[in-house]
Amino acid sequence: MRLIFLGPPGAGKGTQAKLLTERYGIPQLSTGDMLRAAVAQATEVGKRAKAVMDAGQLVSDEIVNEIVSDRIDAPDCAKGFILDGYPRTVPQAIALDRMLESKGLKLDAVIELKVDEAALVRRMENRVAETIATGGTVRSDDNPEAFKRRLTEYREKTAPLSEHYAETGQLKTVDGMADVEAVTAEIDKILA
Ligand code: ADP
Repeated sequence: MRLIFLGPPGAGKGTQAKLLTERYGIPQLSTGDMLRAAVAQATEVGKRAKAVMDAGQLVSDEIVNEIVSDRIDAPDCAKGFILDGYPRTVPQAIALDRMLESKGLKLDAVIELKVDEAALVRRMENRVAETIATGGTVRSDDNPEAFKRRLTEYREKTAPLSEHYAETGQLKTVDGMADVEAVTAEIDKILA
């Protein structure tokens, strides 16, 4: 099973992807997590990505395309994977199409979570409050300014992907405003 999750920051992609990971025994590939790991380890990629991420802007297509291409080759991806946060631009989607073709792989579905923008800001604020309450570390891009920028980046660069995958006939849209269980049930129906 090879899936892509599309949706704005805070739409619930990560939450749903984690649930599917357990169900299908395939890994969730979050480019955000991979980049944060690179930043934490201060690798070359991490050093290049940090300031861009903190400002809420997108890391270059070249960097993320390479990270994903390498990650997909790992043995735990043999049965499939769930991409969360990639592709995020039309050129990334085109690169992914080529990448999969060259590896002889096909996508099973592209699932878009639709959520109102007002709810997204509230969700980010809740995530920050919960993280603080549980003694965790708040993401350096989970602040109102960077979040606004992430939403703008989404609107300008990522939202056009819906069109791209609608044209390829792979796009399935789910109401991301419903509660977590209802969203999961809707996704199950699509994948059944
Ligand atoms: P969000 O919760 O906003 O969806 P992520 O954890 O997916 O955040 O990503 C955090 C940051 O990592 C992004 O704002 C961006 O700087 C960088 N990033 C993640 N995935 C990509 C990608 N596919 N292309 C470019 N930048 C990315």
